[in-house]
Amino acid sequence: MKKIDGRLVADHLQEELKTKVEALQAVGKNPTLAVVLVGEDPASKVYVGGKERTAKKLGMGSLRYDLPATSTQEEILEMVEKLNQDPEVHGILVQLPLPKGLDEKEVLEAIDKEKDVDCFHPYNLGKLFQGDESGFLPCTPHGVIKLLEYYDIEIEGKDVVIVGRSNIVGKPMFSLMLNRSATVTVVHSRTKDLAEKTKKADILVAAVGIAGFITKDMVKPGAVIVDVGINSIDGKLYGDVDKEVEEVASYMTPVPGGVGPMTITMLMDNTIKACK
Ligand code: NAD
Repeated sequence: MKKIDGRLVADHLQEELKTKVEALQAVGKNPTLAVVLVGEDPASKVYVGGKERTAKKLGMGSLRYDLPATSTQEEILEMVEKLNQDPEVHGILVQLPLPKGLDEKEVLEAIDKEKDVDCFHPYNLGKLFQGDESGFLPCTPHGVIKLLEYYDIEIEGKDVVIVGRSNIVGKPMFSLMLNRSATVTVVHSRTKDLAEKTKKADILVAAVGIAGFITKDMVKPGAVIVDVGINSIDGKLYGDVDKEVEEVASYMTPVPGGVGPMTITMLMDNTIKACK
């Protein structure tokens, strides 16, 4: 089994992004990401911190707005509108989940589609669904495609099975794979005979959120395994794929150090694109 090293690929791409940032700064532009964090969710704080650090590492502008958990829908929408109007801000990210009682859909749709670097706006997702990838692409599934490209893993004509149908991972992953002419199956919590389907995969993408969900007997020998899952148990991170799958896979992403570093990198890529 060959490891698909997300840190290595992310470092490589980030070097290219640094050069793009310098080129933009040379003509007086500074790609800037504004991150809005509502409330005190500890995991969200960690994610937001990572995004800020990477933006700074690449020499980009990074703005952070912390709003109290008691914020009203109107206050959050006002903040989004202020950032929409700010010409110095190129990308806006509202960290999810929002505290209970707030309407996430309304907030995400309020973000200017030209600054929607997380690619949650129906306009950008709709373009992707129509096979037009000229807009922003969702960071995690786009990161998966970049990993496969880096390792010269062919997608065209392959049987791809995606476990999970979320708007963040599963559904956009389906579009990106279909746009590259894979034959794609999406399986989920209501799928019958799930293992029969996963066993057909040349490329299996797991985005379930259950540690060790994919076991060796669910995988075709020689399959490429992409593990999107991040599950924290007693302070340690586990993917959705059981370690024993290494014995049968041809390539596999580790957790941590697989898809995770790519997600933040693709967010920076989108912000630089927005600035351009
Ligand atoms: P989600 O909870 O929104 O979706 C999970 C999906 O798994 C659902 O579509 C559901 O149908 C499916 N599912 C749940 N139980 C199942 C079962 N028993 N059998 C088959 N399918 C089942 O989660 P998400 O936001 O898509 O995230 C999935 C995982 O990926 C999580 O662990 C999350 O932390 C991780 N994630 C990682 C990154 C990254 O950067 N690496 C980014 C986003 C999400």
